[in-house]
Amino acid sequence: MTMLTPFPTQPLAARLPRTLPLLMGVGPTPIPEPVQRAHGLLINHLGPTMNGVVEAVQEMARYVFQTESRRVFGISGPGSAAMEMAMANLLWPGRRALVVVNGTFSARLAELGRRAGAEVAVLELEPGTGIDPAALAEVLDAQPADLVAMGQGETSCGAYHQRLPEAIAVAKARGALVVVDTVVTLSCMPFLADEWGVDVALTAGQKGLGSVPGVSLIAFNEASWAAVCARPAPPAQWVLDARLAERFWMDHQYHYTAPTPSLLAMYEALRLICEEGLEARWARHAAHSGALQAGLEALGLTLFAAPEHRLASAVAVRVPDGVDVDALRARMEDRHGVQIAGAFGLPIFRIGQLGEQCRRVPVLRTLSALGEGLVAQGYGEDAEAGARVAAELLGA
Ligand SMILES: *Cc1c(COP(=O)(O)O)cnc(C)c1O
Repeated sequence: MTMLTPFPTQPLAARLPRTLPLLMGVGPTPIPEPVQRAHGLLINHLGPTMNGVVEAVQEMARYVFQTESRRVFGISGPGSAAMEMAMANLLWPGRRALVVVNGTFSARLAELGRRAGAEVAVLELEPGTGIDPAALAEVLDAQPADLVAMGQGETSCGAYHQRLPEAIAVAKARGALVVVDTVVTLSCMPFLADEWGVDVALTAGQKGLGSVPGVSLIAFNEASWAAVCARPAPPAQWVLDARLAERFWMDHQYHYTAPTPSLLAMYEALRLICEEGLEARWARHAAHSGALQAGLEALGLTLFAAPEHRLASAVAVRVPDGVDVDALRARMEDRHGVQIAGAFGLPIFRIGQLGEQCRRVPVLRTLSALGEGLVAQGYGEDAEAGARVAAELLGA
């Protein structure tokens, strides 16, 4: 018998910084204490205790999505798994989909549609811009689709579809089911699944909801569920088969072992959102993100998306000429313990305003760290200009 031999190891603490950085990227985001505590608990995945948790998660998720859909499921997996559940269950060879693409994540929706064997057309927008419903109508009239998919927000470039409700109406008037990715917007910016006619809404745990990564949520209304049930054959994905997920989420039967610690964390995250109330939470995001944006401009920076196409929850900033963004981000982390996000190819960096990031202290701390880092590279002279402006806007 040949075996690999054991080797010296280090406890995890030796690998982590003594103080974990403030997560001001675009996910994962800081989690509130009750979520942290819930995540430390392990219970059985079947039985009356878990059934009560599951039903409460569904009930709270209905409020957060603003839907009365019965079929609200959790998914053991990242936001991409929820995207895949939507696309893989609603598409199959012979189905036609149109995906509105303005960045990395919406492009992923298109890729998932292709992998499901569907014919996928793409309505491509400039990064940093949002949908024009008339353009969508034109494309759908020329090339009808069974399904239209888009993200409410595109995290990769900080873009927001301000006119999403009209775009949904355009798609539905032409007989398409509508899938909306709300990973970067849910609970941060207004989203009304039923009122807007969204057929499938999906989100992840680790962005605006303020939970841990690894559990996502999806809501199917009656129309999209009918399409799932009308499939000629089950999808290739067994874990993400929505009809198997229904067994667990509706009938409390075994599908696969549910990640109970992450579901308990999701429970607490949703409870905190219900407690705060959606309108108050949207207002908190608008106020703090507005202060952050004003602070960024006070530092002499330019925001990537125009105001009408700009996400509140993920703010993309142009990298000024002459600034080394990798060095800037490294300095912010090393000196100030603040992490912000880079980009996938665009000349921008990104700052999250998701959930707990939308508080006075993290916003001001981020602006101070950024200001100091910019001044250190010779960009601007007043490191505190941004924090001062934001503090004024946020009041005492
Ligand atoms: C982060 C994100 C995703 C992907 O979520 P993962 O958990 O990384 O799979 C999808 N869509 C949007 C809009 C996102 O911001």
